[in-house]
Amino acid sequence: MVRRNVNFNPGPAALPFEVLKVVQEELLDYQGSGMSILESSHRAREFETINDQTIMLVRELLGLGTDYHVLFLGGGASTQFAMVPMNFVGDGQVAAYVDTGEFASKAMKEGRNVCDVHVAFSSKDEKYRRIPQMSEIKYPVDPAYLHICSNNTIEGTQFHEFPATSNVPLVADMSSDIASRRLDYGKFSLFYAGAQKNLGPAGVTLVVIHEDFLATARKGLPNIFSYRTHADNKSLYNTPPVFGIYIMKLVLEWLKNKGGLAGIEMINEAKKDLLYGAIDAAPDFYIGTAEKAGRSWMNVTMRLPTEELESNFIADAGKEGLRGIKGHRSVGGVRFSIYNAVSLEDVQKTVDFMERFRKSA
Ligand SMILES: *Cc1c(COP(=O)(O)O)cnc(C)c1O
Repeated sequence: MVRRNVNFNPGPAALPFEVLKVVQEELLDYQGSGMSILESSHRAREFETINDQTIMLVRELLGLGTDYHVLFLGGGASTQFAMVPMNFVGDGQVAAYVDTGEFASKAMKEGRNVCDVHVAFSSKDEKYRRIPQMSEIKYPVDPAYLHICSNNTIEGTQFHEFPATSNVPLVADMSSDIASRRLDYGKFSLFYAGAQKNLGPAGVTLVVIHEDFLATARKGLPNIFSYRTHADNKSLYNTPPVFGIYIMKLVLEWLKNKGGLAGIEMINEAKKDLLYGAIDAAPDFYIGTAEKAGRSWMNVTMRLPTEELESNFIADAGKEGLRGIKGHRSVGGVRFSIYNAVSLEDVQKTVDFMERFRKSA
């Protein structure tokens, strides 16, 4: 028997055990090809099938038609922070950004390296504790797009409704909540997600772009930074992160077996209800840091009354196999990252520990 800890790492994060088993079984001889998928050509039939099936699974699970391009790129979500403005801000245009956390702010700062940026909302002065009311988001006429971060991984907040932008393209960094709940993905002109939270290993980033938006992309960019290049070549312009795409396919198949987004949403809802329930049952001891209306279903953040209690909590949890819960260095405290691959049983174990810890403190 392999001993597995409960993995609350914020990213790279837990992968479904069933997926890891398949990877292990197929590693040395991929489906009778006599070689590992790690050793195969990205132009070989084996990989082409994986690429095509992963694209189809993304469309199927997220409810998207063939009017969306599905790309698998290297460079992490952070590369998209630069590529989005490079590709979509025309001369004299501004790009609008909603600043709800560290990653949202990083995207905005990268935008500033490329174009004029309008801050459509910022909760920075409120320590990023909240998501705006939709009416608080303001931008000038005709920005190139409105960029949001759907889930703020570090601060533990999440959009539960989305701005109605009519003709303004809505762009989202969904790195830490993609495929975790039902959503009208068709609202977005472009969204992207580093795989290492909900979709697979680090090294591949999913980018989904509507064809009408792509048609407006700037020409004359270096090929490698142009979305058009990657869309025209089904992500095979250069060598794509093949192993990451292969694992993403397995994760998406696992998700489909869980009942797709509706199925995983039910589990994720139960998980966050357990954790926030434990926090709200002892609000002077477990102090939730996010405003309730904007609480994240993926990253649950809290403080304890003292830093000493926090480090004891983290150490004691570690002894029980609950790992990866130290808050981000910029905010401190405790953070449980409960992505798709973290089970309800794991969260139940955690809530039981929280009760014991509080009574003994
Ligand atoms: C983790 C994360 C990123 C950074 O992704 P990289 O792949 O490291 O570039 C960006 N945005 C969000 C919301 C994240 O959670």
